[in-house]
Amino acid sequence: MNALPTPLALPGWTHTYSGKVRDLYVPEGADPATSPYLLVVASNRVSAFDFVLEPPIPGKGALLTALSNWWFSRIPLANHLATDGGAPAVPEAVADRAVVSRRLDMYPVECVVRGALTGSGLLEYQQTGAVCGIELPAGLSDGDLLDEPIYTPAYKAPYGEHDENITFERSVELVGADVATALRDASLKIFTEARELAAERGVVLADTKFEFGKDPVTGELVLADEVLTSDSSRYWDATAYFDESLSGSAKLASFDKQIVRNWLAANWDKQGEPPVLPGEIVAQTHGRYRELYVRLTGSEPDFAPPTA
Ligand code: ATP
Ligand code: MG
Repeated sequence: MNALPTPLALPGWTHTYSGKVRDLYVPEGADPATSPYLLVVASNRVSAFDFVLEPPIPGKGALLTALSNWWFSRIPLANHLATDGGAPAVPEAVADRAVVSRRLDMYPVECVVRGALTGSGLLEYQQTGAVCGIELPAGLSDGDLLDEPIYTPAYKAPYGEHDENITFERSVELVGADVATALRDASLKIFTEARELAAERGVVLADTKFEFGKDPVTGELVLADEVLTSDSSRYWDATAYFDESLSGSAKLASFDKQIVRNWLAANWDKQGEPPVLPGEIVAQTHGRYRELYVRLTGSEPDFAPPTA
């Protein structure tokens, strides 16, 4: 894990944490451990293989924020967007790429749902025939759709450490049976509905990761972080996916950061610092993130195009 840039100073807010992509702030003077509100600012940073890469992708933070907000408005489950009258406003400087949320006690479980076999799930399957303890039929290959989506949780490791795939039973040990079950059921339900909606718009939702937290006041289970974005999900173009003359990366024409992963895999031996992304990969990634937004929502983003 490499160093992150100095977070932007935002008057009225105190920076408390930075993940690989997001910077978190609480209202000035609030205790970060008890503040009811949190400003979640999506940067243009792009991460792959646990490294934050250079350069950032212009416009990415705004696209992620807009797509996440669009999904939140369609998912019939409590989400973390703060809508009560007391919530502070998003600062003008980050208007397009930030939300004010309820600060939650996050569960240390990344709720991954897979409707297709690829990425780390495929690797685990090739070694063991199962993913996170779920046995799958023999003979599956990269990109194959599963009969039913599967819930394959991961332990959310502290910053800088690798997340680790776990079994459902392990998630029960981490958060208790009731919460583990609620996380699994909510994740599968949201995924199944989102996958149908994406399919209607010519996009295959292959897999995704949700994060949930507990409202510290009401105890309610709340959907948090980002949802169903190109960073947290794999999306493929349905036309290419179902075109039987195509195979490999042409078949899995992605609207997500697979473009970055593929370029890195071909141009870096994973020793030392990763190389700087070429302009062409930056532009392609931006273009695909934007296209996904347009396909799913049916409208152009209503924020200014990036100037950088
Ligand atoms: P990556 O997503 O690349 O694995 P990351 O998880 O380290 O990186 P970011 O997405 O950059 O982190 O940062 C967002 C952080 O904010 C995460 O740790 C996430 O769990 C946390 N978070 C999101 N929403 C809330 C919320 N409503 N309350 C408290 N924490 C939240
Ligand atoms: Mg994250």
